[in-house]
Amino acid sequence: MKVAVFPGSFDPITVGHLDLVRRAVPLFDEIVVAIGFNAKKEYLFPLEQRLEWLRAVFENEPKVKVDHFENLTAHYCKRIGANYLLRGLRNASDFDYEKTISQLNNIVGDGIETIFFISRPAYSHISSTIVREIIKGGGDASPFLPETVGQHIATQNKLL
Ligand code: ADP
Repeated sequence: MKVAVFPGSFDPITVGHLDLVRRAVPLFDEIVVAIGFNAKKEYLFPLEQRLEWLRAVFENEPKVKVDHFENLTAHYCKRIGANYLLRGLRNASDFDYEKTISQLNNIVGDGIETIFFISRPAYSHISSTIVREIIKGGGDASPFLPETVGQHIATQNKLL
């Protein structure tokens, strides 16, 4: 079984994340989209909300599972029997950061390999950080969000 973990904060999931998972699906038997949770970190959306959106977005993808974990990503991978990590590269700063993390994970995770996807041009400007800024500023972030997530956030904002 080729199992890959796509770890991230997904605060919130964007169309960039979704595109990456869709491109990875043919390569693996199972992809676990896993929210790495750090109790000391501040998030815009609560863990349960982010998990709910992930479940909704991937409900028709039988190969994709949704989960969350605390502490080291490499230990989580070992625990669930995953040998691969998925990450996206949008630009050179992603590369610099990801290179080190990937090298560390390979050691800590006893040979775990990180598979990188270069983002498609249409998505390379999209990040959860930008989406959060738009939402906090009262703007419409739906062009950057999976449809179901965009609709949910728009409805919530109208109710506030
Ligand atoms: P983290 O908090 O670990 O950075 P994110 O949820 O922000 O987690 O991102 C998870 C992964 O998704 C990272 O590898 C990131 O580079 C990738 N990613 C985020 N946005 C995009 C995008 N627009 N296109 C391709 N990959 C992306």
